[in-house]
Amino acid sequence: MRTDRMHISPRIQFSLKLALMGVVMAAIFVADTATSYEVAAAVFYTVVILTAVRVLSRRALIALAVICIVMTAVSLAFTPHGNLRSGLINMGISIVAIVMTTYLVLKMEAARTAAHEAQAHLMRIARVKSMEALTTSIAHEVNQPLAAIVTSGNACQRWLGQEPPNLDKARQALDRILSDAGRASNIIARVRSLTRGEPPHKSKFDFNKAILEIIALSQAEMERNGIRLVMELSPDLPLAIADQIQIQQVVGNVVLNAIDALAPVPAPMRSIRITSETRGNAIVLAVSDTGIGIPAEVYEHLFEAFWTTKEEGIGVGLSISRAIIEANGGQIWAARGEHGGAVFRFSVPIASQEKRQ
Ligand code: ADP
Repeated sequence: MRTDRMHISPRIQFSLKLALMGVVMAAIFVADTATSYEVAAAVFYTVVILTAVRVLSRRALIALAVICIVMTAVSLAFTPHGNLRSGLINMGISIVAIVMTTYLVLKMEAARTAAHEAQAHLMRIARVKSMEALTTSIAHEVNQPLAAIVTSGNACQRWLGQEPPNLDKARQALDRILSDAGRASNIIARVRSLTRGEPPHKSKFDFNKAILEIIALSQAEMERNGIRLVMELSPDLPLAIADQIQIQQVVGNVVLNAIDALAPVPAPMRSIRITSETRGNAIVLAVSDTGIGIPAEVYEHLFEAFWTTKEEGIGVGLSISRAIIEANGGQIWAARGEHGGAVFRFSVPIASQEKRQ
């Protein structure tokens, strides 16, 4: 089951909201004109402004406030009865209320946007910083056995190049190569277990709520990039059981990848759709984008560590995401989007399944 709101296109939603505002403003105008000067119905324009702040841009909101002020003055001119002096005072009060409300909501909105931008920024920095530290330490550790392999390889070539070839020495060099290669592979295995982090702290949680929380952090980033976000979260999900923070990390990473994939696409075509649903004993989250998509030959590499197509990418986001999801008892996979782009899905066990085990 999906919530109805999500089936209405954003353009229609916007038009409906504008129409509703128009009707409310007309009603206030009629009430203000028809009632006597002593009734300051125009203060109700402040309600329209408060509602409009989420719908209109800064400029449009200021224009709306000006329209409300003009309508207040026009009402006064057409009001047929009452004490004109009270009418003038009430008009003054209404106009001050409209101006103050507009000023305050614009301030609040600016603060909200700044906070969201800062959060999104932090999220990106946290990802890059932890990845930077991780790659530096991995590069450092793996470099040693690799350098030793090169030295032994060169020695081996020299022993084999002698007349007659010194097979004994060459065999010893090969043994060293094998043992160093084993050491490098052990380091990678250790890093893999490290990036899995601590064992997950599993608990029951409201999956949609956790998703909305983490999406809120990247919303400003999406707005800045002109990305349309469509949320289709199933309203009747059971509780999930997993490490909520880790699951949120995965969502953050997949969403940031989707944002990256949308950058080369023309702005009007940028959209991200996030859906949640129950499938058997799991909740499945899907993040679809209309981005550049994934070439067929790339699928098998997506979840490999250090595999990236981005100039500044590190290529560990998806490998860590897979490790996290698997440690939490789920699976993660990618597919081609219905209308181009890519879809990343992952599953998380539902709480009742845990009880049955
Ligand atoms: P990074 O983001 O540092 O490249 P990831 O492991 O998160 O590392 O992603 C690996 C690669 O997978 C990316 O470089 C990109 O080629 C591909 N990829 C991930 N998400 C998407 C997506 N939504 N659309 C297209 N390609 C993607």
